[in-house]
Amino acid sequence: MEAKNKLRMTKQRQVILEELRKVKTHPTADDMYQMLRRKMPKISLGTVYRNLEILSESGMIQKLDVGGTQKRFDADISIHSHVRCIDCGRVGDIDVKPHCNLEAEAQKMTDFEIFRHRLEFTGRCPLCQQMRKTTA
Ligand SMILES: [Zn+2]
Ligand SMILES: [Zn+2]
Repeated sequence: MEAKNKLRMTKQRQVILEELRKVKTHPTADDMYQMLRRKMPKISLGTVYRNLEILSESGMIQKLDVGGTQKRFDADISIHSHVRCIDCGRVGDIDVKPHCNLEAEAQKMTDFEIFRHRLEFTGRCPLCQQMRKTTA
């Protein structure tokens, strides 16, 4: 196991991080694999997956466990909320920050040590709204 505080930046890891930073689509490991194959034809899905996990464990990217679907990854590690399309699963950013300190409020009510919370919105993306209009 690698120590969290001394993450080795391999070439592959560097490229994965760069590619993830280019997009706002919150890609899954599969999506990333498709993107990376154009640059690194020899890369395997397992390698992509493992490196995404390592990068998220080190805090350089964030992992989204939204709605029990495939894990998605985000190079934007600032605190922001996500909205998930109930039809196609697309995930977008919403720059909503809670007005009160929810962690502190929650901490008063539990023996668990609270680190953070996740706020997830669900809705329908513009493409799927359009789709419903044209097929209705
Ligand atoms: Zn959609
Ligand atoms: Zn995001």
